[in-house]
Amino acid sequence: MSERLMVIGAGTMGNGIAQVFAAKGYEVLMVDVDEKALARGMKTISGSLERLVKKERITEEERNTTLARIQTSSDPNDGAEVFLAIEAATENQEIKEKIFAQLAGIVREDAWLATNTSSISIDELASGLPNPSRFLGMHFMNPVPMMKLVEIIRGKATSREVEEGVLELTRKLGKIPVLVNDAPGFVANRILMPMINEACFTLEEGVGEKEAIDTIMKLGMAHPMGPLELADLIGLDVCLSIMEVLHEGFDDEKYRPSPLLQRLVAEGKLGRKTGEGFYDYRKEGASGA
Ligand code: NAD
Repeated sequence: MSERLMVIGAGTMGNGIAQVFAAKGYEVLMVDVDEKALARGMKTISGSLERLVKKERITEEERNTTLARIQTSSDPNDGAEVFLAIEAATENQEIKEKIFAQLAGIVREDAWLATNTSSISIDELASGLPNPSRFLGMHFMNPVPMMKLVEIIRGKATSREVEEGVLELTRKLGKIPVLVNDAPGFVANRILMPMINEACFTLEEGVGEKEAIDTIMKLGMAHPMGPLELADLIGLDVCLSIMEVLHEGFDDEKYRPSPLLQRLVAEGKLGRKTGEGFYDYRKEGASGA
């Protein structure tokens, strides 16, 4: 099998996924519809590798070889021979369905297809594919180079061979895969997002200032980050999309997205990636996508 894979989407997650595969010796084609996102993605990877060089975790040579293994393109046809395509594009079902319909006509018949979706049904995405047995969810955590967990979501049609192969591949990356079944939000976001959404309601209702809410969850529950600063890191648009999937998927009002979250997204305050969300990052410069 070729050691070349394709990552679709060069944003917060896509560039992180490209980096960890390249660091382990894989050739990566990073594809995005937006040329600027590709340039920003490469800049983020190079900044991240530079920090590892400074901390003496990798050598300058390793940084250079890792960077040299990543190619960029706005055309997925350039990845026709890959053994795996991981989709990490915008959290929108229609966009993802279009991408997979296109990929199915490009990659080899035996290639694996994976989505990094945070919440969208694996079975629904699989239903449009000619061979759903080769499809599953490969949900990396943010920031990808640092986080050990990859939530692996098997669909009803995913073959045992593909499931085992992806678990093995994840371990080769130095990550820890945890296998779960398909349901809105899977496990990670089914539990995390209602907490973030509740933190938004708490802020909106004036129960506490943002710093108070984050400090209480950090010191009181031993969380490394507070829910509002975590939402800024994830991207408020991503958080809102996930809450919408939970709300619609379970048809339960307990998942109703907070009006404050909706308002910030409408105002384009998406968190770190735009420089402002619950907190203001403009002095330190916008990061991520
Ligand atoms: P992002 O907004 O940072 O990046 C998305 C990228 O996809 C953009 O660069 C956009 O130009 C590109 N894109 C859109 N349509 C495309 C297409 N048709 N072809 C190629 N590229 C396309 O988003 P993100 O935070 O990186 O999220 C990507 C995926 O990963 C989403 O499904 C999200 O739910 C999931 N995810 C996000 C996080 C997080 O913390 N942000 C964590 C885990 C999973």
